Amino acid sequence: MSREQAFWPVECGEGEPDLLVCMSCLSEVFRRKVPMPECPTCHGVSTYEAFTLNSIRDWGTEDLIARALRAEAEVEQMPVPSAGISASEPAE
Ligand SMILES: [Zn+2]
Repeated sequence: MSREQAFWPVECGEGEPDLLVCMSCLSEVFRRKVPMPECPTCHGVSTYEAFTLNSIRDWGTEDLIARALRAEAEVEQMPVPSAGISASEPAE
């Protein structure tokens, strides 16, 4: 048995909800990706829906909100290629 979780990437536009929450168990949340082949907690398939952090804060449990914050921080640690490009683009 492998402990490593595999994910499907989920494309989300800028400003669109990008936190994928399992609507079946409401205890798993990932940013811009969903676990494959199923939810690791409830084993539901296609149970993930996209939400913003604000909406999760509205109705989520403390645990879910903490997970959502962690998922956001995880992505922010990744290098952002657009940071270097902005210097060469004309600023409005
Ligand atoms: Zn689930």
